[in-house]
Amino acid sequence: GTADIGVTGLAVMGANLARNFARNGYTVALHNRSRARTDQLVAEHGHEGTFVATESLEELVASLAVPRRVLIMVKAGQPVDDVIDQLIPLLEAGDIVIDAGNSHYEDTRRREAALAQQGLHFVGVGVSGGEEGALNGPAIMPGGPEKSYEALGPMLEKISAHHDGEPCCAWVGTDGAGHYVKMVHNGIEYADMQVIGEAYDLLRRVGGIEPAEQAEIFTAWNQTDLASYLIEITAEVLAQKDEATGGPLVDVIVDEAGQKGTGRWTAISGLDVGAPVAAIAESVFARSLSSQPHVREVARRTLAAGIESVEAPQPADREEFVEDVRQALFASKLVAYAQGMDMLAAAAQEYGWSLDLGTIASLWRDGCIIRADLLDVIMKAFGGRDTDRHPEPGTRAEGQPVNLLFAPEFSQAIAEALPAWRRVVATAVTAGVPVPVFSSALAYYDGLRADRLPAALVQGQRDYFGAHTYRRTDRDGSFHTLWSADRSEVEA
Ligand code: NDP
Repeated sequence: GTADIGVTGLAVMGANLARNFARNGYTVALHNRSRARTDQLVAEHGHEGTFVATESLEELVASLAVPRRVLIMVKAGQPVDDVIDQLIPLLEAGDIVIDAGNSHYEDTRRREAALAQQGLHFVGVGVSGGEEGALNGPAIMPGGPEKSYEALGPMLEKISAHHDGEPCCAWVGTDGAGHYVKMVHNGIEYADMQVIGEAYDLLRRVGGIEPAEQAEIFTAWNQTDLASYLIEITAEVLAQKDEATGGPLVDVIVDEAGQKGTGRWTAISGLDVGAPVAAIAESVFARSLSSQPHVREVARRTLAAGIESVEAPQPADREEFVEDVRQALFASKLVAYAQGMDMLAAAAQEYGWSLDLGTIASLWRDGCIIRADLLDVIMKAFGGRDTDRHPEPGTRAEGQPVNLLFAPEFSQAIAEALPAWRRVVATAVTAGVPVPVFSSALAYYDGLRADRLPAALVQGQRDYFGAHTYRRTDRDGSFHTLWSADRSEVEA
């Protein structure tokens, strides 16, 4: 065969990626379990490039040039395993199987190991940007064997988004690293959306600012260091009028946030690798809380007395309040990014990946949902983009800050935002407006830089009930106090 790549699974994502490849000059072989989708794609978009419609996976594989590249874009989970099982006997050593769906990185690790046994390359690829991105240029985060990138990378780079001429695509690490990086992207996305939501809620309930006017505020914020896709679309959503009621659309949307699981995976993995991704986890919890309508209904009736009112800021200080909220939003968002990057470093150690944080940040500058001017700054804070730089697993490239917040530009920015951030969290707490990520991010920041943490007391408690021992500030070794005897201290 002569086709450059085969795509199996032609629902919206697969179809759009296939069209993206074809529009970039590649010959794309098409396959879908039920033939109708293949026919529909060819009928509607066949003129956009060179497609080879096939009836079966055998036919799909036969139509491909060697090494064969087969991209699987079916429903995540068991269907991916089913398709892989059908493909294995049809392929030869050196062929590349690509899973660009939202697979869990542990599944990708398992699949990669199994296919490696057969001499096949299995590449888990994180793709962000939704339907639109898949068609016009997504951010692409490929994992899998580094060798596979020689035959696959150039094609992926061609169809990816570009930023300042650089593709938002680079090999990030072995086996499940690509899907992991995409997962963390989504975790950060959850937090980013939640902090914007908290800002909106404060502006509305404390500031008394209606959605239409907030749309203008967010548009103005999009000219500041908050400039990002999410801020831009927030302004559009807030500006949207509902036809039926004539009021803001946001007022008639049911306030229960859905989730497809990647934020939850991020929080779970953060716990697993011991990375304190509290802001990300809080944003997942906030969605979960919102999606308990029955509990909320009872709470509104039984706990209503607990909700205080706070005086709205006077017009004179309204502008200051808006600016305070903007700064709190920026600082909280920065913490969420710092936690996400920190988690990547912890995962690199856990899974033996050589993730380069500067390169990863560079992939998120365009094409994906969290694309933002800030990512260029984050990339630079991690030493810029260097796609050949792969630090030893679990280490950081030379000169990279141990935590994003320690990079001079960010430590400075947070120090400047800190008074506003505290005022906003204090106001929210007083007013009874929940700001789980604003406040959690601030607690993380304060916790990181505290001289002493109450962890000392926790260690004392652990030693008391479980003889878990503690270390001393003034001597090496582990110690235990004989709590139930004479309370003298012994070396453990
Ligand atoms: P769906 O997740 O809706 O999956 C539908 C496709 O899977 C159809 O082609 C269907 O074939 C096929 N399929 C389902 N089960 C099987 C099976 N057992 N064997 C063979 N084929 C099967 O498609 P989407 O395009 O929405 O998503 C594809 C992937 O992309 C998913 O992993 C999803 O999570 C991810 N995604 C990523 C986004 C992003 O921004 N990166 C956005 C949205 C999705 P048939 O037509 O015969 O039913």
